[in-house]
Amino acid sequence: SVRVRFAPSPTGALHIGGVRTALYNYLFAKKNNGTFILRIEDTDQSRFVEGAEDYIRQSLAWAGISPDEGVAEGGNFGPYKQSERKDIYKQYTDQLLAEGKAYIAFDTPEELDEMRDRLKEARVANPQYNAVTRMQMKNSLTLSEEEVKELIDAGTPYVVRIKLPKNEDVRFKDIVRGWVVVNTATLDDKILMKSDGMPTYHMANIVDDHLMEITHVIRGEEWLPSAPLHVLLYEYLGWEAPEFAHLPLLLKPDGNGKLSKRAADKLGFPIFPLNWTDPQTGELSVGFKEAGYLPDAFINFLALLGWNPGGENEFFSLEELVEIFTLEKINKSGARFDIEKAKWFNQQYLRSKSSEVLAEEFINLVGDKADKALATRIVDSLKDRVTFVKEMVEAGSFYFERPTEYDAKTVKKKWNDLAIEKLQGYAAELSKHDSVTSDEAKTVLTDYLAKDETPLGRVMPALRLALTGQGGGPDLMEIISILGPTEVAARIDLAIS
Ligand code: GLU
Repeated sequence: SVRVRFAPSPTGALHIGGVRTALYNYLFAKKNNGTFILRIEDTDQSRFVEGAEDYIRQSLAWAGISPDEGVAEGGNFGPYKQSERKDIYKQYTDQLLAEGKAYIAFDTPEELDEMRDRLKEARVANPQYNAVTRMQMKNSLTLSEEEVKELIDAGTPYVVRIKLPKNEDVRFKDIVRGWVVVNTATLDDKILMKSDGMPTYHMANIVDDHLMEITHVIRGEEWLPSAPLHVLLYEYLGWEAPEFAHLPLLLKPDGNGKLSKRAADKLGFPIFPLNWTDPQTGELSVGFKEAGYLPDAFINFLALLGWNPGGENEFFSLEELVEIFTLEKINKSGARFDIEKAKWFNQQYLRSKSSEVLAEEFINLVGDKADKALATRIVDSLKDRVTFVKEMVEAGSFYFERPTEYDAKTVKKKWNDLAIEKLQGYAAELSKHDSVTSDEAKTVLTDYLAKDETPLGRVMPALRLALTGQGGGPDLMEIISILGPTEVAARIDLAIS
């Protein structure tokens, strides 16, 4: 059965590209009645960032992408955090060493630099520690067994490197990109175990994917260059490699270059799911959640960043995405990140939500100014006019506060003696009621104006101006109904005085 994993390193906030990787893994798992695993790849302790692991978990929870197995969820293939699996990796590095498929290297950073400088002088474009150069270096292939033992006994730091064949084609089929062929002459003898005894990403990743019985590796395109090495490692360990699907890059809105945090900051749009404060700089980046995006709108937008189901429909719930998701429909070319599209999705989702549901969020923002019933009516009057719930706070502020200013253009054009007289008359008529529905508010107005055949259009703009201070806004009769006759009369008085 299908088993996939999202394997982030807790080195900072989860970038939108990471959430997309998680989403595609999740969709593929659910589509195939498989298992979605969250594995924390924290072997690089120098890049560890406090709080990043929690952040990853909270981000996925907000987006509704829930793992079946993981550190918090448990499962039969744990531990799910690589720093707790050190012994497991050692066992397999030892196996590779014993079988001559890996070797121990003692070179100091200075010696490695020297080698690179030497090669650069000899005009080697891409200096590498490989089948040719390793023969001049200090490792278990060039030293005698005794020398190696002595160095180890003396506590000399060493790493374990993979011993790559000199000139061999590695080939594998990527589900997105098709056949990939790379010659080992272009690869170097990557470190598998560092001098602190920790495995590198490559080693830990392969061992875990095998032991956790991962069937498909779905990850960002930036890992494609590592895939040939991974394929070789599977071969060396005598394991069957999983299938690979490398997802297209996310590009800046103009299609020029990778979507980075810097690019996003410059263009002023969120790139992280949740707020993130950089622990080093203290700098805050606003997340999609805090910017006001609804999780389902965010997911819909994200799903289409590099995957295309075909057809006209663009709206898919998470459940629908699960139904129709296939890896074959992932695009090869980079996906342009268009924040306007994200906003558009949010607006569409907002409109499709019940006002009762949105009212909860509205209340969270305005506090005890509105109870559920009032908030629901206010939200209902505003939801077609905004993109985010939080915009309703500003757009609906007149419900809570009397105007202090009046739109100058409307004053000039629509505020006149006739309007003033009719507003006063209307206020008097309305005051005969304790409360009115919007239909009643309208009947009272039309009946009153019908007496001397005053056209509605001569009065309505002035009425709106008196009640809200604005030249435009939600349905006026609904506003009157929400404010109530007493408040309407008071605002008309205020406007006239
Ligand atoms: N730890 C890697 C990352 O941070 C995982 C890459 C992979 O999925 O193999 O993206």
